[in-house]
Amino acid sequence: MYGTRYDVEHEITVTAGATQALFTAVTACVRPGDEVIVFEPVYDSYAPAIELAGGTVVRLQLAAPDYRPDWAAVAAAITARTRMIMINTPHNPTATVWTADDLDRLAALVRDTAIVVVADEVYEHIVFDGATHASCARHPELAARSFVVSSFGKTYHITGWKVGYILAPRELMAEFRKVHQFNVFTVNTPVQLALADYMSEPARHTGLAAFYQAKRDFFRDALADTRFELLPSRGTYFQLARFGAISTLPDTAFCEYLTRDIGVAAIPLSAFFADGRDERVVRFCFAKTEATLAAAGERLRRV
Ligand code: PMP
Repeated sequence: MYGTRYDVEHEITVTAGATQALFTAVTACVRPGDEVIVFEPVYDSYAPAIELAGGTVVRLQLAAPDYRPDWAAVAAAITARTRMIMINTPHNPTATVWTADDLDRLAALVRDTAIVVVADEVYEHIVFDGATHASCARHPELAARSFVVSSFGKTYHITGWKVGYILAPRELMAEFRKVHQFNVFTVNTPVQLALADYMSEPARHTGLAAFYQAKRDFFRDALADTRFELLPSRGTYFQLARFGAISTLPDTAFCEYLTRDIGVAAIPLSAFFADGRDERVVRFCFAKTEATLAAAGERLRRV
């Protein structure tokens, strides 16, 4: 898919979801005192994995409304103790997508260091408006130092089945498997066989971007007459919305209100910041049927 050949025996490991892949990669590489750079708002499983390994989480900010990385800040954050940089594109929760140029910038910064990259690419097939997913697996220089994480849960609509896989060059994967061996050993075979059977038809994932882009457009249309201010959604199945024109409640209380009184669940963006910062933004998920999205739009027009 990305033009890089990974050796099946030594460079690909099936995991109990992306969550285990991320946790095991961190556990294999991070030791007390090591620093790991993450980008906030950040997916919630990274920091606990780093902290359990004794590492220090170094948080760099992605600023609204574009949530783009600040490469000067990344350069300034790299120290002799930096062991790992964790990236996520397409990005949960902001629905931004990195470009090939972003990967070049990252590659230039980690060149001549021992920094390992963990690339969480679970939404790799869900990029919109004709954009191409920039995979570390497609970038030879980064591929040589990266763990690349994928999830069948996202790609085949089976969240909860918890099967994914991780790619890495042989030396990194050897370290990964030292942890995997005594934590998971193997991912349950019946589900692996079911997935292998399903994948025997080639390119099962094609159409996924169009499928979710239609849902994104449907949901954005459904919210057009509300007082929410919609931020761009360039990938994933998430939609950020500002609610400052609707309520003065903190984002968490506003989400409780939406859930209890309006009947639409959303996640407060503050949940993705270590300091609980409230930017008055909520995250909706549009991986739903059109009927559900229409009903949500109906209810949110009353807010
Ligand atoms: N990374 C990100 C960015 C995610 O959004 C998710 C799922 N919410 C995961 C990892 C975990 O994927 P899995 O279900 O395969 O463990």
